[in-house]
Amino acid sequence: MNEKRIPLSKAQLEKIAEDYPTPFHLYDEKAIRENARQFYQAFSWVKGFKNHYAVKACPNPTILSILLEEKMGVDCSSLPELILSEKVGFRGENIVLTSNDTPAEEFIEAARLGAVINLDDIGHIELLEKSIAIPELISFRYNPGDARTGNVLIGLPLEAKYGVTRDQVVDAYRIMKNKGVKRFGLHTMVASNELENSYFIETARMLFELAVMVKEESGVEIELVNMGGGVGIPYRPEEKAVDLELISSGIKELYGQLIVPAGLHPLRIVFECGRLVTGPYGYLVSRVRHVAKKYKTYVGLDSCMANLMRPGIYGAYHHITVPGKEDLPADQLYDVTGSLCENSDKFAIDRRLPRIEPGDLIVIHDTGAHGYAMGFNYNAKLRSAELLLREGGTVQLIRRAETIDDYFATMRFPSAPLKV
Ligand SMILES: *Cc1c(COP(=O)(O)O)cnc(C)c1O
Repeated sequence: MNEKRIPLSKAQLEKIAEDYPTPFHLYDEKAIRENARQFYQAFSWVKGFKNHYAVKACPNPTILSILLEEKMGVDCSSLPELILSEKVGFRGENIVLTSNDTPAEEFIEAARLGAVINLDDIGHIELLEKSIAIPELISFRYNPGDARTGNVLIGLPLEAKYGVTRDQVVDAYRIMKNKGVKRFGLHTMVASNELENSYFIETARMLFELAVMVKEESGVEIELVNMGGGVGIPYRPEEKAVDLELISSGIKELYGQLIVPAGLHPLRIVFECGRLVTGPYGYLVSRVRHVAKKYKTYVGLDSCMANLMRPGIYGAYHHITVPGKEDLPADQLYDVTGSLCENSDKFAIDRRLPRIEPGDLIVIHDTGAHGYAMGFNYNAKLRSAELLLREGGTVQLIRRAETIDDYFATMRFPSAPLKV
């Protein structure tokens, strides 16, 4: 069980809403920092341990600068993410480029930044060479194919578009060694929102065994193993968070069994977690516009799928709290919806909640990763503001809400056509 509590009272939220009208995403700085420290503490036995935060999970400069202060790196998968990371202050190998279907401009920018390039495909080597000088360090993303089962969210590795295959992987390292690469990394990402501790220990085993095999077959000594992201969070109250201490000790044991005897010590182990780092510490705060009785009873909010896509696209569960009504019986059955003209625009279906009235605040939990970031402008819906609850208890606007002018900014009307 995990208690789904919100860090603020109804009165505090109403006070914030006076300055920043709903809807908004609110992030809890103190909780983000404490969790980051626990993550690093669990892996303190690894020399040079790092989590490269997946920028796509919450591409906000203030959040990223907090994570930089907590000694995290970044994982980027597009040119704007690389530029954002540089603007925040990330440098060199603190930045990893794990993109796919990669354009030359990303290689060029990554090289300029001195970032670690994680090649998604053996065929990308040609484009890499055409785009930049051969880097000192190169990493490959590995796809184990039918050796692993993946999970529901990410799908079967055999069906995934990512990574070099088992048949290609040794050759990939051999080719890069012959081209003059001196340092090597190995990456994989085979799960998403996975809560099973043993899954990550098995991923480490797979990567360690592969590193040993690559050394035996090609003489390449891998110095950096990237476990990817995909560590899950307990979206449902009855779910349990992963046990990072347990995962770490399982990985440490395998390190002793596989890496040390193969002469690969010291091997740096890193992750690329996004969800684990900020997911539980973000909240979408909305207000109820209407309670509509049809064949079912609908609670209509002033936010919609544009602010949080996960329920609509994956049927994902996000816990809901009605501030000020936490202790009332959850004796009503509601669908909680947005205003988008799509019937999948529902934050919750058949959810038991206390009796709700128009004007009530509604807090949707666990929106700190893949929340705001996945937003879009379909149906001319505007993206909300992002706020930060600072450690001292003050609230700071870290991204303003989009305006109607923003919506029109890229359009040209026939009377004033876009110059090309
Ligand atoms: C999305 C992504 C991540 C982060 O995934 P989380 O589920 O947020 O941990 C890490 N690495 C890569 C390559 C990704 O695409």
